[in-house]
Amino acid sequence: MSAEVRKPVLVIGLGRFGGATARTLERMGHEVLGADLDSRLVQDFAGDLTKVVEADCTDLACLQHLGIAEFEAAVVAIGGDIEASVLAVLALCDLGVTNIWAKATNDNHARILERVGATHVVFPEQRMGERVARLLNERLLDFISFGDEFAIARLKAPEPIIGLPLISSECRKKHGITVVGVKRDGEDFIHAVPDTLIMPEDELVVSGLIEQIEKFAALQ
Ligand code: ADP
Repeated sequence: MSAEVRKPVLVIGLGRFGGATARTLERMGHEVLGADLDSRLVQDFAGDLTKVVEADCTDLACLQHLGIAEFEAAVVAIGGDIEASVLAVLALCDLGVTNIWAKATNDNHARILERVGATHVVFPEQRMGERVARLLNERLLDFISFGDEFAIARLKAPEPIIGLPLISSECRKKHGITVVGVKRDGEDFIHAVPDTLIMPEDELVVSGLIEQIEKFAALQ
């Protein structure tokens, strides 16, 4: 992506989630304005982000003064104070910010955020908890889910398909998953093709329904 398309982003709340989001966006080449009520956090982030301000972002006039109306994208990373998080989203909507990501701490919080205009609501703690639980299953090496049902995972090749070319293992028909890539020990991932032979110790990248992926990973 070129520098011109990396739009400026406002991050409200520089706690653990907001701080990590802001620093990553900055490293990716975005201009990041970080805002927090806490002067110590503002100082901590001063050298890391394009600009950092101490501000109460529930206050429309304060956001206006910061030139927030110029931003198309914002992240509201206030979790603990639900009222502040909702008011910040509302103020951003009133100022015409069109792409608002907000962190929710529970389902009701998420429903309110969506109702007042958040375009994306995320649950970082719950998502990470689910991810850790899945990765504790030692045959799953990495995992990313899309919605509640579909995922892409990296896993050790299960025993029943070892020694077979993919076409003969009939992964899609028998196990409901698609093998996307294969990695042999010490080599890079390659795209899977029908005659890719699966060897012991190979790692696979597969896509499919979460339930099917978990069953496939557990095959011995
Ligand atoms: P995390 O668990 O990611 O650290 P927190 O909810 O604990 O999330 O942190 C949220 C951050 O948001 C805190 O640093 C807090 O000072 C900041 N914050 C809370 N209310 C406001 C507000 N009205 N304006 C700006 N920042 C705020």
